[in-house]
Amino acid sequence: MNFKKKIKKTIFQLGYKSGLFSALANLGGENFLTVLNYHRVDYPENRPWLDPSLISAIPEDFEAQMRFLSQDYSPVSIKDVLGAISGKKVLPKKAVLVTVDDGYRDFDENIFPIATKYGIKPLLFVPTSYPNGGEFWWDKLYWAVRSWEGDSLDTPYGLFSLATDADREIALKLLRIAIKSGDFKEGMRLVDSLDKESKPKVKSDASDILSWDELRALSDKGADIAAHTHNHPLLTKIPFEEACAEINQSLDVIRKELSQDLPVFAFPDGQPDFFSEKLVEFLKEEGVQFAVTTVDENAALKENNKLFFPRVGVYRSLRLPAFSYRLSPFYKKL
Ligand SMILES: [Zn+2]
Repeated sequence: MNFKKKIKKTIFQLGYKSGLFSALANLGGENFLTVLNYHRVDYPENRPWLDPSLISAIPEDFEAQMRFLSQDYSPVSIKDVLGAISGKKVLPKKAVLVTVDDGYRDFDENIFPIATKYGIKPLLFVPTSYPNGGEFWWDKLYWAVRSWEGDSLDTPYGLFSLATDADREIALKLLRIAIKSGDFKEGMRLVDSLDKESKPKVKSDASDILSWDELRALSDKGADIAAHTHNHPLLTKIPFEEACAEINQSLDVIRKELSQDLPVFAFPDGQPDFFSEKLVEFLKEEGVQFAVTTVDENAALKENNKLFFPRVGVYRSLRLPAFSYRLSPFYKKL
C-alpha cells in the first residue's frame, strides 16, 4: 500500500471509529441528502459471465452497510424525497436514499430482502426493454473479451492483445472507453458481433435481469421502481428526439406494467457527458420531479438540482470507514 493510501485509510478509520463522520453528517442541514448508487450485490463466482465491476458489494458487506445506515443515519424512501421536493415534508437530518440501477436478479435475491430487514426502502431503476429478456452491452463485452479464444482481438478501435489476464483487463477498459466516446450505435454493432462469436455461457435458463412478473411481485411487496430509459443508451450520443422517446417510453412502460407512477428518472451512465440542459428541460416538461446522475457527490435538495441530482457510488472495495466518509456533507473524492 502506498503512503497516500495509508494516510487515507487511517483518516477513514479515525473518522469512523471516533464517530466524527457520523457527527459531521448532522451538519448537512435541512434537506441534505445522500443518494447511494448500487448496481449489483452478489458474489462474482455466482454469475461469472457478468461484468464483476458492476458488483457494488458482496451480500455481507451490503448487510453491514444497511445495518450501519439503520443505526446511525435516517434512511428515507423516494416518497419522502418527493414530499420534500413538493414542500410538504422536510427531510430528517442524515437522510440517505438507497438506489439500485438496472434490475439485475440479485435485487430480488439480496438487495431487497436485506434492505427491508433494516427498514430501508431501496429504489430500483429499470431500463424497460430488458425485463423482456435482454443482456446489457457491458456484460456481453466482458464475456466476449474474457472468453475469447486466441491471443488478440481485432476491432475497429484497434488491435488488442489478449495474451494474459492483465492484457484482457486493459483491452476491456480501453474498449469500454472507446465505445462510450465514439459513435454509440457503431459500438453496439461491435458488441453484438463479438457476442455472436464468443463462447456460449454455461448458465441456467433464468435471465440475469428480472422479468415483469418478478418486478410486479416485488412491486406488490412494496418495492419502488422507476424509469431508466427503455434501451439504456447514452442519451447525449443519440439524436435528441430519440433520447426524448427513450425517456417517455420508459415512463409509460413502468406505468403500464407495474401501475407505479413515480415522477422519477435515472440517467444511464449519468456522468456529465451523458446528460444535458436540454434533456433536463425535457424531463421537467414531462412532469419528472426528481432525476439522478452518477456525479459522485451528496448535496442539499434545491430547486435547481433536483433534475440532475448527484449520487454517491458504492464499490466492492469500500469498507465501512470509507463508506461512512462518503455520507458526510464534506465528502469529496480524495
Ligand atoms: Zn444503468
